[in-house]
Amino acid sequence: MFVLDHLRAAMELFYPNLCAGCQNHLSPTETAICSLCLLQLPYTKFPLNTNPLSNRFIPLAGIDGAYSLCYYNKASKLQHMLHALKYKNQPEVGNLLGKVLGKRLVDLALPVVDVVVPLPLHKKRLQQRGYNQAQRIAEGVSPVLNGTMELKGLSRVQHNSTQTHKSRRERIQSMEGAFKADSNVFKEKSILLVDDVITTGATMLSCAEALLDSGCRTIYVASLAYADDF
Ligand SMILES: [Zn+2]
Repeated sequence: MFVLDHLRAAMELFYPNLCAGCQNHLSPTETAICSLCLLQLPYTKFPLNTNPLSNRFIPLAGIDGAYSLCYYNKASKLQHMLHALKYKNQPEVGNLLGKVLGKRLVDLALPVVDVVVPLPLHKKRLQQRGYNQAQRIAEGVSPVLNGTMELKGLSRVQHNSTQTHKSRRERIQSMEGAFKADSNVFKEKSILLVDDVITTGATMLSCAEALLDSGCRTIYVASLAYADDF
């Protein structure tokens, strides 16, 4: 134990184990995010079906509902966490927040899902990043929901560089046909579709449409964060 403690201390010097939210040192029992940051996240406390995000999705694509764990605010600790997940090679942030999201969905009595599906990245982006952040979130969510994570059968066929300066309508149009879903995999399945941040919802919507075309039974959409000020 003594040797291990020294080893840990030495490792800390070179690879400090810092919270992805506040940059303070993590205790040995904490991973990726400290307990205080987890406690103070801007949780939406949305109900499962009637919330502003659901209202945005349900009339548009026959989606059962949508839920987001937190509100997304710029320059917040949550933004630091999501930035670390996406750009600083810290996939464990996604695993941990995915677990929190899964527990919340269980508390809210989300109906049983057959498969948890991460929003796919385009191959090119996947090569740049080395991993799909949505998959890391789904890895945290699926064991909590007793669902199987499904990585095959859904792919992104279109690579979008930036959507920032487009209107919501333009974003939805530009995402049309961006995904392909295999009906052999998704037919009659109930799906939980997972991503990190939902802004306009254009990407999720396009993905959900591909899944609906493949003959799936239901889709519920969930994300870690929701930006309502686009
Ligand atoms: Zn922290």
